[in-house]
Amino acid sequence: MPAPGSPSGPRIVVLGSLNIDLVQTVKRFPQPGETVFAGDLHSYPGGKGANQAVAVARLGRAVAMIGQVGADAFAAPLLASLKGAGVATDLVQESARPTGAATILVSEDGQNSIVVSPGANGTLTPAMVCSRLADFGAGTVLLCQLESPFDAVEQALRFAKSRGMITILDPAPAHPDCLPWLPYVDYLTPNETEAVQLAGFASPIVSESDAARAAALLRQHGAKSVLLKLGSRGCFVSTADTAELISAFEVKAVDTTAAGDCFNGAFAVALVDGLPIVDAVQFANAAAALSVTRHGAQDSLPARDEVDELRRQGAH
Ligand code: ADP
Repeated sequence: MPAPGSPSGPRIVVLGSLNIDLVQTVKRFPQPGETVFAGDLHSYPGGKGANQAVAVARLGRAVAMIGQVGADAFAAPLLASLKGAGVATDLVQESARPTGAATILVSEDGQNSIVVSPGANGTLTPAMVCSRLADFGAGTVLLCQLESPFDAVEQALRFAKSRGMITILDPAPAHPDCLPWLPYVDYLTPNETEAVQLAGFASPIVSESDAARAAALLRQHGAKSVLLKLGSRGCFVSTADTAELISAFEVKAVDTTAAGDCFNGAFAVALVDGLPIVDAVQFANAAAALSVTRHGAQDSLPARDEVDELRRQGAH
């Protein structure tokens, strides 16, 4: 891929986690001290950062990933998945800690229990962030999440804004420590649970006016625009000019893993394509709707022609 600074270089950069997801299906979860048998162990490439980078690449835009992996056997399949999708991986570097991993138990009744070891993801420092972002210029879209060290994410957002970049923060998993950085965020993209946590609401978001209140509050903290992802209801958009619900596309959902990551990657693509915000959200809703019709994380992320086709059908 051409260098970031060149005219044909990537205009989207994702800073975030790369995790290997190790999945076992069990009849029921083991009690402390108990051993249970499971079906075959499956491993899948994951991590919110890597998923968002793959989402961008599948939609045909050049994208670079910034992150850390370990010097172990899990790094290779993660990098292969990124490269296979067309993501530039030169800014993913090796650390002395093991590659990030999530062990996921899925019970026969569909519940899951997940344990995450951030490992190498935890070794990203503010200094690394500045040096790896140095070649990206004004107009580049930076996507971040909260699966990386907070000081590194905060530094990335500040650095990006000082260079005239466009910043998107997916506050997942939610943590109130990100509230002071919201003045460096152009687009904050919480899901419903994350919005409730960040806004400090005591009850869930039920109505459109609850969504409007949560989004307005997060804008008061400094985020320029808030895109509140509402699952099968779509996305509530709150900007200086508009506050409205953009409905989801009606599809048969089979697995919502990575729907939010797909939404974020697609929204970044739509921004680089020059779509106005409401159209960009509608594009992201279409991509994310396609992702929920398929199993898996990175495997479920759609290609551009599929998104175009769903938008043409306008199947609301
Ligand atoms: P997250 O995956 O982060 O929890 P959501 O569940 O809100 O986030 O999903 C993100 C986006 O995916 C939604 O804003 C919507 O566009 C799309 N989406 C999620 N679930 C469905 C569904 N059942 N039908 C159609 N679109 C969906």
